[in-house]
Amino acid sequence: MGIDRDSGRGPTLKGRKLYIPQMSYSGAAAFAAAFRSVGIDAEVCPDSDARTLELGRRHTSGEECLPACVTLGNFLKIVERPGFEAARTAFFMPTADGPCRFGQYAPYIRKVLRDIGLDEVPVFSPSSKDGYGGMAEQKNELMRNALRALSASDALRKMLHRTRPYETHAGDTDKVFARAIKGVERVIERPGVPTEKRMQDLVAALTAARDEFRAVPADFTRKRPLVGVVGEIFCRLTPFTNDQTIRKLEEYGAECTLAHIVEWVWYTNDEHQKRLRQSGRRFSKAMLAAKIKDHIQHKDEHRIHQVFHAELRGYEDPPIEEVLEYSMPYLPHTGALGEMTLSVGKAIFHYHQGCDGVVDISPFTCMNGIVTEAVYPKVSADHDHMPMRNFFFDGTQTDLDRDVAIFVELARAYEARKKTTRIHPTNCAA
Ligand code: SF4
Repeated sequence: MGIDRDSGRGPTLKGRKLYIPQMSYSGAAAFAAAFRSVGIDAEVCPDSDARTLELGRRHTSGEECLPACVTLGNFLKIVERPGFEAARTAFFMPTADGPCRFGQYAPYIRKVLRDIGLDEVPVFSPSSKDGYGGMAEQKNELMRNALRALSASDALRKMLHRTRPYETHAGDTDKVFARAIKGVERVIERPGVPTEKRMQDLVAALTAARDEFRAVPADFTRKRPLVGVVGEIFCRLTPFTNDQTIRKLEEYGAECTLAHIVEWVWYTNDEHQKRLRQSGRRFSKAMLAAKIKDHIQHKDEHRIHQVFHAELRGYEDPPIEEVLEYSMPYLPHTGALGEMTLSVGKAIFHYHQGCDGVVDISPFTCMNGIVTEAVYPKVSADHDHMPMRNFFFDGTQTDLDRDVAIFVELARAYEARKKTTRIHPTNCAA
Protein backbone atom coordinates (compact mmCIF):
# COMPACT_ATOMS: atom_id res chain seq x y z
CA MET A 1 0.00 0.00 0.00
CA GLY A 2 1.45 3.35 -1.03
CA ILE A 3 1.40 6.14 1.51
CA ASP A 4 2.04 9.81 1.49
CA ARG A 5 5.24 11.07 2.95
CA ASP A 6 4.76 14.72 2.14
CA SER A 7 1.76 14.76 -0.09
CA GLY A 8 0.52 11.35 -0.83
CA ARG A 9 2.87 8.91 -2.54
CA GLY A 10 5.98 7.44 -1.10
CA PRO A 11 7.33 4.61 0.97
CA THR A 12 5.17 1.64 1.74
CA LEU A 13 3.72 0.44 5.04
CA LYS A 14 4.36 -3.15 4.01
CA GLY A 15 6.58 -4.83 6.55
CA ARG A 16 6.32 -1.89 8.94
CA LYS A 17 4.53 -1.44 12.25
CA LEU A 18 2.44 1.73 12.30
CA TYR A 19 2.44 3.44 15.70
CA ILE A 20 -0.71 5.35 16.67
CA PRO A 21 -0.38 8.22 19.19
CA GLN A 22 -2.56 7.92 22.29
CA MET A 23 -5.29 10.50 21.86
CA SER A 24 -7.04 8.65 24.65
CA TYR A 25 -5.76 5.10 25.02
CA SER A 26 -9.16 3.65 24.18
CA GLY A 27 -9.58 5.63 20.96
CA ALA A 28 -6.04 4.83 19.82
CA ALA A 29 -6.40 1.12 20.64
CA ALA A 30 -9.65 0.87 18.69
CA PHE A 31 -8.16 2.89 15.82
CA ALA A 32 -5.09 0.63 15.66
CA ALA A 33 -7.46 -2.34 15.44
CA ALA A 34 -9.10 -0.70 12.40
CA PHE A 35 -5.70 -0.56 10.67
CA ARG A 36 -5.12 -4.22 11.49
CA SER A 37 -8.48 -5.07 9.90
CA VAL A 38 -7.06 -4.06 6.51
CA GLY A 39 -3.76 -5.84 7.02
CA ILE A 40 -1.70 -2.97 8.39
CA ASP A 41 0.31 -3.95 11.46
CA ALA A 42 -0.62 -1.17 13.90
CA GLU A 43 -0.01 -0.65 17.60
CA VAL A 44 -0.70 2.08 20.14
CA CYS A 45 2.25 4.25 21.23
CA PRO A 46 3.51 3.56 24.75
CA ASP A 47 2.05 5.39 27.75
CA SER A 48 3.45 8.85 28.31
CA ASP A 49 5.78 9.53 31.22
CA ALA A 50 8.64 11.77 32.29
CA ARG A 51 10.87 10.25 29.58
CA THR A 52 8.26 11.24 26.97
CA LEU A 53 8.54 14.88 27.98
CA GLU A 54 12.33 14.70 28.21
CA LEU A 55 12.65 13.33 24.68
CA GLY A 56 10.00 15.65 23.26
CA ARG A 57 11.58 18.72 24.83
CA ARG A 58 15.01 17.76 23.55
CA HIS A 59 13.76 18.40 20.02
CA THR A 60 11.36 21.30 20.60
CA SER A 61 11.98 24.92 21.54
CA GLY A 62 9.24 25.26 24.16
CA GLU A 63 7.00 27.28 21.87
CA GLU A 64 5.28 24.25 20.39
CA CYS A 65 2.01 22.91 21.75
CA LEU A 66 2.16 20.27 24.48
CA PRO A 67 0.55 17.59 22.24
CA ALA A 68 3.37 18.09 19.71
CA CYS A 69 5.95 17.54 22.43
CA VAL A 70 4.12 14.48 23.83
CA THR A 71 3.51 12.74 20.50
CA LEU A 72 7.07 13.41 19.36
CA GLY A 73 8.43 12.19 22.70
CA ASN A 74 6.45 8.96 22.44
CA PHE A 75 7.64 8.33 18.89
CA LEU A 76 11.22 8.86 20.09
CA LYS A 77 10.61 6.42 22.97
CA ILE A 78 9.89 3.81 20.31
CA VAL A 79 13.13 4.74 18.54
CA GLU A 80 15.16 4.06 21.69
CA ARG A 81 13.52 0.70 22.38
CA PRO A 82 15.88 -2.28 22.14
CA GLY A 83 15.46 -3.93 18.74
CA PHE A 84 14.05 -0.81 17.02
CA GLU A 85 14.41 -1.03 13.24
CA ALA A 86 13.80 2.05 11.11
CA ALA A 87 12.96 -0.08 8.09
CA ARG A 88 10.14 -1.76 10.02
CA THR A 89 8.59 1.33 11.63
CA ALA A 90 6.10 4.03 10.59
CA PHE A 91 4.37 6.76 12.59
CA PHE A 92 0.77 7.92 12.22
CA MET A 93 0.13 11.63 12.42
CA PRO A 94 -2.91 13.11 10.66
CA THR A 95 -3.00 16.77 9.72
CA ALA A 96 -5.62 19.49 9.40
CA ASP A 97 -6.34 22.90 8.06
CA GLY A 98 -7.40 25.50 10.53
CA PRO A 99 -6.26 28.33 12.71
CA CYS A 100 -3.70 26.40 14.72
CA ARG A 101 -0.40 24.57 14.62
CA PHE A 102 -1.70 21.04 14.20
CA GLY A 103 -0.98 21.18 10.47
CA GLN A 104 2.71 21.59 11.36
CA TYR A 105 2.99 18.44 13.50
CA ALA A 106 3.62 15.95 10.71
CA PRO A 107 6.18 18.11 8.80
CA TYR A 108 7.89 18.87 12.11
CA ILE A 109 8.12 15.22 13.11
CA ARG A 110 9.55 14.43 9.67
CA LYS A 111 12.16 17.15 10.18
CA VAL A 112 13.18 15.76 13.58
CA LEU A 113 13.44 12.27 12.11
CA ARG A 114 15.62 13.67 9.32
CA ASP A 115 17.79 15.51 11.87
CA ILE A 116 18.47 12.32 13.79
CA GLY A 117 19.16 10.29 10.66
CA LEU A 118 15.83 8.45 10.55
CA ASP A 119 14.29 9.94 7.44
CA GLU A 120 13.49 6.46 6.17
CA VAL A 121 10.78 6.22 8.86
CA PRO A 122 7.58 7.42 7.13
CA VAL A 123 5.00 9.62 8.79
CA PHE A 124 1.59 8.56 7.52
CA SER A 125 -0.47 11.71 7.35
CA PRO A 126 -4.04 11.85 6.01
CA SER A 127 -5.60 15.32 5.89
CA SER A 128 -8.83 17.02 6.98
CA LYS A 129 -8.96 18.86 3.63
CA ASP A 130 -10.71 15.88 2.08
CA GLY A 131 -12.38 14.67 5.28
CA TYR A 132 -9.39 12.32 5.82
CA GLY A 133 -10.34 10.50 2.65
CA GLY A 134 -6.84 9.67 1.36
CA MET A 135 -6.12 6.96 3.89
CA ALA A 136 -5.11 3.89 1.89
CA GLU A 137 -5.97 1.62 -0.99
CA GLN A 138 -8.61 -0.07 1.17
CA LYS A 139 -9.63 3.32 2.41
CA ASN A 140 -13.38 2.76 2.42
CA GLU A 141 -13.11 -0.34 4.59
CA LEU A 142 -10.45 1.23 6.77
CA MET A 143 -12.41 4.45 7.27
CA ARG A 144 -15.62 2.58 8.06
CA ASN A 145 -13.92 0.35 10.59
CA ALA A 146 -12.05 3.32 12.06
CA LEU A 147 -15.23 5.35 12.49
CA ARG A 148 -16.98 2.39 14.10
CA ALA A 149 -13.99 1.85 16.38
CA LEU A 150 -13.91 5.49 17.46
CA SER A 151 -17.69 5.66 17.94
CA ALA A 152 -17.56 2.52 20.08
CA SER A 153 -14.73 3.93 22.19
CA ASP A 154 -16.67 7.21 22.56
CA ALA A 155 -19.76 5.37 23.80
CA LEU A 156 -17.72 3.28 26.24
CA ARG A 157 -15.92 6.37 27.55
CA LYS A 158 -19.31 7.98 28.20
CA MET A 159 -20.32 4.87 30.14
CA LEU A 160 -17.07 5.09 32.12
CA HIS A 161 -17.62 8.73 33.06
CA ARG A 162 -21.30 8.18 33.85
CA THR A 163 -20.64 5.17 36.10
CA ARG A 164 -17.27 5.67 37.80
CA PRO A 165 -18.20 8.60 40.08
CA TYR A 166 -21.00 6.50 41.59
CA GLU A 167 -19.18 3.16 41.99
CA THR A 168 -19.11 1.84 45.53
CA HIS A 169 -15.86 -0.07 45.08
CA ALA A 170 -12.99 1.95 43.63
CA GLY A 171 -11.56 0.59 40.40
CA ASP A 172 -14.52 -1.57 39.30
CA THR A 173 -15.58 0.71 36.42
CA ASP A 174 -12.05 1.14 35.08
CA LYS A 175 -11.71 -2.66 34.89
CA VAL A 176 -15.00 -3.03 33.01
CA PHE A 177 -13.96 -0.23 30.64
CA ALA A 178 -10.58 -1.86 29.90
CA ARG A 179 -12.27 -5.21 29.16
CA ALA A 180 -14.83 -3.50 26.95
CA ILE A 181 -12.16 -1.82 24.84
CA LYS A 182 -10.40 -5.17 24.38
CA GLY A 183 -13.73 -6.63 23.21
CA VAL A 184 -14.09 -3.85 20.62
CA GLU A 185 -10.52 -4.38 19.42
CA ARG A 186 -11.18 -8.11 18.91
CA VAL A 187 -14.20 -7.37 16.72
CA ILE A 188 -12.67 -4.55 14.72
CA GLU A 189 -9.26 -6.09 14.02
CA ARG A 190 -10.44 -9.27 12.24
CA PRO A 191 -9.70 -8.98 8.52
CA GLY A 192 -12.15 -9.95 5.80
CA VAL A 193 -15.36 -9.74 7.87
CA PRO A 194 -18.41 -8.58 5.86
CA THR A 195 -19.60 -5.11 6.88
CA GLU A 196 -22.98 -6.12 8.34
CA LYS A 197 -21.52 -9.12 10.18
CA ARG A 198 -18.87 -6.89 11.78
CA MET A 199 -21.53 -4.46 12.94
CA GLN A 200 -23.57 -7.30 14.44
CA ASP A 201 -20.49 -8.59 16.26
CA LEU A 202 -19.70 -5.11 17.47
CA VAL A 203 -23.22 -4.62 18.80
CA ALA A 204 -22.95 -7.98 20.58
CA ALA A 205 -19.61 -7.01 22.17
CA LEU A 206 -20.98 -3.63 23.25
CA THR A 207 -24.13 -5.22 24.64
CA ALA A 208 -21.98 -7.52 26.78
CA ALA A 209 -19.97 -4.50 27.90
CA ARG A 210 -23.16 -2.57 28.71
CA ASP A 211 -24.33 -5.43 30.90
CA GLU A 212 -21.00 -5.40 32.71
CA PHE A 213 -21.33 -1.65 33.32
CA ARG A 214 -24.86 -2.26 34.62
CA ALA A 215 -23.48 -4.82 37.07
CA VAL A 216 -20.95 -2.41 38.62
CA PRO A 217 -22.13 -1.81 42.19
CA ALA A 218 -23.00 1.88 42.27
CA ASP A 219 -24.96 4.34 44.37
CA PHE A 220 -26.75 6.73 42.05
CA THR A 221 -28.65 8.38 44.91
CA ARG A 222 -25.59 10.52 45.68
CA LYS A 223 -26.27 13.50 43.38
CA ARG A 224 -23.24 15.16 41.85
CA PRO A 225 -22.88 18.36 39.80
CA LEU A 226 -22.40 17.57 36.11
CA VAL A 227 -19.43 19.26 34.43
CA GLY A 228 -19.15 19.46 30.64
CA VAL A 229 -15.53 19.03 29.54
CA VAL A 230 -14.57 20.61 26.22
CA GLY A 231 -11.35 21.93 24.68
CA GLU A 232 -8.41 20.91 22.56
CA ILE A 233 -8.98 17.38 21.34
CA PHE A 234 -5.65 15.79 22.29
CA CYS A 235 -5.30 17.45 25.67
CA ARG A 236 -8.89 16.88 26.81
CA LEU A 237 -8.83 13.20 25.81
CA THR A 238 -5.37 12.31 27.12
CA PRO A 239 -5.20 12.13 30.93
CA PHE A 240 -1.39 12.42 30.97
CA THR A 241 -1.50 15.81 29.26
CA ASN A 242 -4.35 17.18 31.40
CA ASP A 243 -2.99 15.91 34.68
CA GLN A 244 -5.97 13.58 35.13
CA THR A 245 -8.41 16.48 35.34
CA ILE A 246 -11.52 14.32 35.01
CA ARG A 247 -10.45 11.99 37.81
CA LYS A 248 -9.70 15.04 39.96
CA LEU A 249 -13.12 16.54 39.23
CA GLU A 250 -14.64 13.20 40.24
CA GLU A 251 -12.55 13.08 43.42
CA TYR A 252 -13.88 16.52 44.39
CA GLY A 253 -17.46 15.38 43.90
CA ALA A 254 -18.36 16.09 40.25
CA GLU A 255 -19.47 13.92 37.37
CA CYS A 256 -18.10 14.77 33.92
CA THR A 257 -19.35 14.51 30.38
CA LEU A 258 -16.48 14.77 27.91
CA ALA A 259 -16.65 16.00 24.30
CA HIS A 260 -16.22 12.91 22.13
CA ILE A 261 -13.60 12.20 19.41
CA VAL A 262 -16.08 11.70 16.58
CA GLU A 263 -17.28 15.28 17.02
CA TRP A 264 -14.15 16.22 15.03
CA VAL A 265 -15.14 13.82 12.22
CA TRP A 266 -18.58 15.45 11.95
CA TYR A 267 -16.94 18.86 11.93
CA THR A 268 -14.44 17.97 9.18
CA ASN A 269 -17.26 16.38 7.13
CA ASP A 270 -19.22 19.61 7.49
CA GLU A 271 -16.21 21.72 6.55
CA HIS A 272 -15.48 19.50 3.54
CA GLN A 273 -19.00 20.03 2.23
CA LYS A 274 -18.75 23.75 2.94
CA ARG A 275 -15.58 23.93 0.83
CA LEU A 276 -17.29 22.06 -2.00
CA ARG A 277 -20.18 24.55 -1.92
CA GLN A 278 -17.80 27.51 -1.85
CA SER A 279 -15.96 26.18 -4.90
CA GLY A 280 -19.21 25.88 -6.88
CA ARG A 281 -19.50 22.09 -6.52
CA ARG A 282 -22.77 22.00 -4.62
CA PHE A 283 -24.24 19.53 -7.14
CA SER A 284 -21.07 17.59 -7.97
CA LYS A 285 -20.14 13.92 -7.68
CA ALA A 286 -17.75 14.92 -4.89
CA MET A 287 -20.63 16.44 -2.91
CA LEU A 288 -22.76 13.34 -3.44
CA ALA A 289 -19.91 11.14 -2.23
CA ALA A 290 -19.36 13.38 0.81
CA LYS A 291 -23.05 13.24 1.72
CA ILE A 292 -23.24 9.46 1.32
CA LYS A 293 -20.14 8.99 3.50
CA ASP A 294 -21.58 11.28 6.17
CA HIS A 295 -24.91 9.44 6.09
CA ILE A 296 -23.30 5.99 6.42
CA GLN A 297 -21.06 7.14 9.25
CA HIS A 298 -23.99 8.64 11.17
CA LYS A 299 -25.99 5.45 10.66
CA ASP A 300 -23.14 3.38 12.09
CA GLU A 301 -22.75 5.71 15.05
CA HIS A 302 -26.47 5.54 15.73
CA ARG A 303 -26.47 1.73 15.83
CA ILE A 304 -23.52 1.73 18.22
CA HIS A 305 -24.98 4.31 20.60
CA GLN A 306 -28.38 2.64 20.46
CA VAL A 307 -26.92 -0.17 22.60
CA PHE A 308 -26.57 2.34 25.45
CA HIS A 309 -29.86 4.07 24.79
CA ALA A 310 -31.21 3.72 28.33
CA GLU A 311 -27.94 4.48 30.13
CA LEU A 312 -26.99 7.50 28.02
CA ARG A 313 -30.36 9.21 28.06
CA GLY A 314 -29.57 12.85 28.80
CA TYR A 315 -25.97 12.45 27.64
CA GLU A 316 -26.68 12.40 23.88
CA ASP A 317 -24.40 14.58 21.78
CA PRO A 318 -26.08 17.22 19.66
CA PRO A 319 -25.77 17.27 15.85
CA ILE A 320 -22.75 19.28 14.72
CA GLU A 321 -25.03 21.86 13.08
CA GLU A 322 -26.58 22.57 16.48
CA VAL A 323 -23.15 23.04 18.09
CA LEU A 324 -22.11 25.45 15.33
CA GLU A 325 -25.40 27.31 15.64
CA TYR A 326 -24.87 27.80 19.38
CA SER A 327 -21.43 29.29 18.78
CA MET A 328 -22.67 31.64 16.03
CA PRO A 329 -23.20 34.79 18.17
CA TYR A 330 -19.73 34.45 19.75
CA LEU A 331 -17.37 32.67 17.33
CA PRO A 332 -19.21 32.16 14.02
CA HIS A 333 -17.97 29.02 12.31
CA THR A 334 -18.06 30.88 9.01
CA GLY A 335 -15.04 32.85 10.19
CA ALA A 336 -13.56 31.23 13.28
CA LEU A 337 -12.49 27.73 12.38
CA GLY A 338 -11.64 24.67 14.40
CA GLU A 339 -11.97 23.70 18.00
CA MET A 340 -12.62 27.14 19.45
CA THR A 341 -15.97 27.20 17.66
CA LEU A 342 -16.80 23.68 18.75
CA SER A 343 -15.82 24.33 22.38
CA VAL A 344 -17.96 27.47 22.70
CA GLY A 345 -20.92 25.84 20.94
CA LYS A 346 -20.62 22.76 23.11
CA ALA A 347 -20.35 24.89 26.27
CA ILE A 348 -23.72 26.46 25.40
CA PHE A 349 -25.16 23.04 24.63
CA HIS A 350 -24.03 21.94 28.10
CA TYR A 351 -25.95 24.86 29.60
CA HIS A 352 -29.15 23.68 27.88
CA GLN A 353 -28.35 20.06 28.81
CA GLY A 354 -28.56 21.09 32.46
CA CYS A 355 -24.87 20.91 33.30
CA ASP A 356 -23.55 22.77 36.31
CA GLY A 357 -20.33 24.05 34.79
CA VAL A 358 -17.96 23.80 31.84
CA VAL A 359 -14.25 23.11 31.95
CA ASP A 360 -12.21 23.86 28.82
CA ILE A 361 -8.95 21.91 28.70
CA SER A 362 -6.17 23.40 26.59
CA PRO A 363 -2.46 23.12 26.16
CA PHE A 364 -0.59 26.23 27.34
CA THR A 365 -0.35 28.79 24.48
CA CYS A 366 -3.05 26.96 22.50
CA MET A 367 -4.69 29.55 20.32
CA ASN A 368 -8.08 27.85 20.67
CA GLY A 369 -7.91 28.03 24.45
CA ILE A 370 -6.72 31.64 24.42
CA VAL A 371 -9.66 32.67 22.25
CA THR A 372 -12.27 30.69 24.19
CA GLU A 373 -10.95 32.11 27.47
CA ALA A 374 -11.64 35.60 26.11
CA VAL A 375 -15.16 34.63 25.03
CA TYR A 376 -16.41 32.56 28.01
CA PRO A 377 -17.13 35.52 30.36
CA LYS A 378 -19.69 36.83 27.86
CA VAL A 379 -21.05 33.34 27.16
CA SER A 380 -21.37 32.70 30.89
CA ALA A 381 -23.05 36.08 31.52
CA ASP A 382 -25.57 35.28 28.77
CA HIS A 383 -26.29 31.87 30.31
CA ASP A 384 -27.21 32.55 33.93
CA HIS A 385 -23.54 32.91 34.88
CA MET A 386 -22.94 29.20 34.65
CA PRO A 387 -19.29 28.63 35.74
CA MET A 388 -16.97 28.24 32.73
CA ARG A 389 -13.26 28.05 33.13
CA ASN A 390 -10.15 27.24 31.12
CA PHE A 391 -7.45 24.98 32.47
CA PHE A 392 -4.12 25.25 30.65
CA PHE A 393 -1.44 22.56 30.70
CA ASP A 394 2.24 22.58 29.81
CA GLY A 395 3.33 19.37 31.50
CA THR A 396 4.30 21.11 34.76
CA GLN A 397 0.93 21.79 36.42
CA THR A 398 1.27 21.90 40.19
CA ASP A 399 -1.84 23.36 41.85
CA LEU A 400 -4.61 21.69 39.88
CA ASP A 401 -6.19 20.26 43.03
CA ARG A 402 -6.88 23.69 44.46
CA ASP A 403 -8.32 25.00 41.18
CA VAL A 404 -10.50 21.92 40.69
CA ALA A 405 -11.81 22.10 44.26
CA ILE A 406 -12.79 25.75 43.79
CA PHE A 407 -14.45 24.99 40.45
CA VAL A 408 -16.53 22.16 41.89
CA GLU A 409 -17.71 24.48 44.69
CA LEU A 410 -18.78 27.04 42.06
CA ALA A 411 -20.59 24.29 40.15
CA ARG A 412 -22.42 23.23 43.33
CA ALA A 413 -23.49 26.81 44.00
CA TYR A 414 -24.76 27.13 40.44
CA GLU A 415 -26.53 23.76 40.71
CA ALA A 416 -28.49 25.08 43.69
CA ARG A 417 -29.81 28.11 41.78
CA LYS A 418 -29.92 27.00 38.14
CA LYS A 419 -33.02 27.28 35.98
CA THR A 420 -32.27 24.27 33.79
CA THR A 421 -32.69 20.61 34.78
CA ARG A 422 -30.72 17.52 33.89
CA ILE A 423 -31.42 13.82 33.68
CA HIS A 424 -29.59 12.09 36.52
CA PRO A 425 -28.04 8.66 35.92
CA THR A 426 -29.81 5.66 37.38
CA ASN A 427 -29.09 2.00 37.68
CA CYS A 428 -30.67 0.70 34.47
CA ALA A 429 -30.32 -2.90 35.66
CA ALA A 430 -32.64 -2.25 38.60
S1 SF4 B 1 -5.40 23.09 18.89
FE1 SF4 B 1 -3.99 24.23 20.19
S2 SF4 B 1 -2.64 22.67 21.05
FE2 SF4 B 1 -3.68 21.73 19.33
S3 SF4 B 1 -2.26 22.06 17.65
FE3 SF4 B 1 -3.71 23.75 17.62
S4 SF4 B 1 -2.74 25.40 18.76
FE4 SF4 B 1 -1.68 23.46 19.24
